[in-house]
Amino acid sequence: MRVRYTDVTTTQKLPYRCKRCGHTTTAIATGQTRMHGHDLSSDAVEQGARSHLRRLTNLARCPKCHRRAPGALLEAIVKSALVGALAGGAPYFVFWLRDNHVRGFLRTLCVGAAIGVFVAILFSQLMAAKNGVEFEGASVRGPRAGDPPPR
Ligand SMILES: [Zn+2]
Repeated sequence: MRVRYTDVTTTQKLPYRCKRCGHTTTAIATGQTRMHGHDLSSDAVEQGARSHLRRLTNLARCPKCHRRAPGALLEAIVKSALVGALAGGAPYFVFWLRDNHVRGFLRTLCVGAAIGVFVAILFSQLMAAKNGVEFEGASVRGPRAGDPPPR
């Protein structure tokens, strides 16, 4: 069976309410959503993109207090860690099945793959939130000199 995917870039306006300071505005979120090739009606794309863009918006910093929604960062970390663990754990398991133990070099390789994938995915999510989400009324994009340093 062959499954084809298409990455669709969508932009949606979503109501935004900061869970930390209560600031309300409209978020204009742009992100790529992976769709199955046979389900590309505009309704399906919009539905599929909505939850993704909502998550992206949660991960973006509030234009007023410059903080992320509570739990959003943790969710991104947990998801990235799961994918990372799979990326490192799967080859580890295969090596282990073959030799009943995993030698130091291969173990380092697996741990390295896990950490590398974890960092890459987390970073790409944070960048997608930073670059893909704009807020109505926020005139300046990106960090300014007076912004508090990212935590
Ligand atoms: Zn806020």
